Amino acid sequence: MRVLVLGGTSEANKLAHLLAEASGISATVSFAGRTKAILAPPISCRIGGFGGVEGLIDYLKAENIDVLVDATHPFAEQISRHAEIAAKRAKIPLAVLSRPAWVRTVQDLWIDAADKTDAALALGHEPRRVFLTIGRLQIEAFAKAPQHFYLVRTIEPLALPPRLPNYRVIHGRGPFLVEAEEKLLREESIDVVVTKNSGGEAAFAKILAARNLRIPVIMVARPGEAMQAAMHDPGEVMDCILRHQLARRGV
Ligand code: NAP
Repeated sequence: MRVLVLGGTSEANKLAHLLAEASGISATVSFAGRTKAILAPPISCRIGGFGGVEGLIDYLKAENIDVLVDATHPFAEQISRHAEIAAKRAKIPLAVLSRPAWVRTVQDLWIDAADKTDAALALGHEPRRVFLTIGRLQIEAFAKAPQHFYLVRTIEPLALPPRLPNYRVIHGRGPFLVEAEEKLLREESIDVVVTKNSGGEAAFAKILAARNLRIPVIMVARPGEAMQAAMHDPGEVMDCILRHQLARRGV
């Protein structure tokens, strides 16, 4: 049986390890190619876009893919939409694997934002020191709020300097430690943190640090209807794949 995993997340890596150990399954993980340092997966991999939804359908057919797994990031909207359409058109099952969203507790000072534009507005008129950890593709939205200082954290260096008058870029890849995040927030006199509700453990330390220091967090919600029927556990997705394998064998 042939499985294609749309990856780029730690959940996809975990699933890749499970697939590597399964017998009778040939699996490939696909990366967009945004990040240069990819952790070598234990199964075969391909890198780069498919060329839109039609390209993905062509790939599924050409490679005789039996099951498609969308294990991309919860904010990777386009590829998830493509996966849904392509699986339907290629008439193969689609399993969605997505980490659960972070949930507010009574100790948190979260301000909900619908999207990046809403988040920039939520910063308000008064100049603030902002810890911006929203992904390099989202930074442009904050050019509309130039009165603030932005400490921008990205995984990879930015191709172009952001169009922000007052900023500093630092790089970092999770998992982060709460103590280190608290130190950073204190040393940089951060007033507010801006983040997407990505969920997962690797980036959760900044949420805990903000909670401990009573710093507000502008939390950008996950896109619309996405991931409603998602599974959260790679093992659960693996069980589904194995059930499908048995069904195909007529067991
Ligand atoms: P996106 O906006 O949903 O996708 C843009 C295009 O990138 C897609 O149309 C597709 O190109 C290509 N693509 C995306 N994921 C791919 C994959 N796994 N394999 C092959 N092509 C892929 O995605 P994005 O937000 O730019 O994220 C890109 C990748 O980074 C995703 O795989 C995601 O899992 C990972 N990631 C994203 C975030 C985030 O915050 N968005 C955070 C961490 C990791 P074609 O149309 O040419 O097929």
